[in-house]
Amino acid sequence: MSLKVYNTINRKKEEFITIEDKKVRMYVCGPTVYNYISIGNARPIIVFSMVRNYLEHSGYSVDFVQNITDIEDKIIRKANEEGVDFNVITERYIKAFLEDIKRLDVGNFTAMPKASEMMPEIISIISRIIENGFGYESSGDVYFDIAKFGRYGRLSGQRTEEMHSQEDDSFSKRSATDFTLWKSAKPGEPFWESPWGKGRPGWHIECSAMSIKYLKYGLDIHGGGIDLIFPHHENEIAQSEAAFPTEGDFVKYWMHNGMIEVKEEKMSKSKGLKSGWILRNLLDKYSANVIKMYMLSTHYRSPLEFSNDKLEEAKKAFEKIVNFLRNLKFLVDSPVTEEYSGSADPSENIYTYLKEFKLQFKSSMDDDFNSAKAIGDLFDFIRSINAIIQSSGFILSGPVKESIKMSLHFAVEHGRIFGFDFKNELDPVHLSDKAGKDTMLLNKEEIEELIQQRNFARKTKDFQKSDEIRDRLKSFGITLDDRKEGTLWRKES
Ligand SMILES: [Zn+2]
Repeated sequence: MSLKVYNTINRKKEEFITIEDKKVRMYVCGPTVYNYISIGNARPIIVFSMVRNYLEHSGYSVDFVQNITDIEDKIIRKANEEGVDFNVITERYIKAFLEDIKRLDVGNFTAMPKASEMMPEIISIISRIIENGFGYESSGDVYFDIAKFGRYGRLSGQRTEEMHSQEDDSFSKRSATDFTLWKSAKPGEPFWESPWGKGRPGWHIECSAMSIKYLKYGLDIHGGGIDLIFPHHENEIAQSEAAFPTEGDFVKYWMHNGMIEVKEEKMSKSKGLKSGWILRNLLDKYSANVIKMYMLSTHYRSPLEFSNDKLEEAKKAFEKIVNFLRNLKFLVDSPVTEEYSGSADPSENIYTYLKEFKLQFKSSMDDDFNSAKAIGDLFDFIRSINAIIQSSGFILSGPVKESIKMSLHFAVEHGRIFGFDFKNELDPVHLSDKAGKDTMLLNKEEIEELIQQRNFARKTKDFQKSDEIRDRLKSFGITLDDRKEGTLWRKES
């Protein structure tokens, strides 16, 4: 089966065929920097990072550009409210945004342009639109003439005669539905020089200018939240195709993620940003891995419920994966005990599960990036391997150890597609005791050294000593699990 992608413009899943062989040019609309980003803003970033990772895993090279909107009415309003310069607001929230995506360990964009740095390109594309007869200037403002662009409404299904203007009605417009490409500056507003006088770009034009500059005309994938379909993405198509009328479609596949919803309320539409929705506040409570698990356990096009229960569920699910990987790592690091006699060696079964997992995972992800199903496939795999490891006759034979090593490698590699990072979970462990004092670093060797001391104490029936060591490890969040093949340990989070 080959990769199929739900294309919003054709309202169906289509086979994914890139414009250039094995190369994907992808653009996703980024945040407007007038506040901290919410968990809702984080969804497209996590989703399209997963899309990029899976495409790369499937052998494509991917250029991924996301913009930062740093010129917009909401920013001007916020600057006026606080009585500060416009740049104070944008600098503050760009810095916060960059910190947030670093903590979330996503992004790694090919380019992350800001609207304010794109003025020559924005002015040039507006000039092309006017020259080609799709835009007009009126008292220092420039509008897109929707009546001239016959293909308007293809993406959103909006018919121009039924459309209501999304903007302030202005007497200088030919039609109420025409949208702004350039806005003349009112006193006290930030402005840039242009052929139409001092002013600033409308919101939609920056994405046409940026995507064409960094990825050239004709994108394989354009992504964003479903709330951007109209008017933003509809207008991006109109602008780009009006500026380059002989170059074909602006975008081949339009992909839109669903909204995060709090009961009946849509996060992006609600008034004001509640502190519980702010990504950085959530990152103080949950790791980046857990937030990704929460997001990707639902298909990207479906609405996603925001609740503490959902996040707690995701936390437990992620811990299950980590415990599984720790157990495998323990076996991989342990010496081979003995060999199975005859045909009882379960390594062949482990390889069969591995093969099934790989095929199942691919088929889920090839079905419009169904990460929810693929995470389910990973848990099926974990269950199958656990059943073998925990069975009564289990022996760590040479072939079994090899198959376990490969299982560990597969699980880690496939988890990376979702952005899961197991480094901190599998390598040296940072620990602080429950009272929060004596913060110390125990590495894996030190933990295992303590476990060996405890095992020696148990063998020599020094139970006081063995209990002491167990309690000491426990105070650092390490739980022990005594099995016949040895003692497993895991860190509780
Ligand atoms: Zn955009």
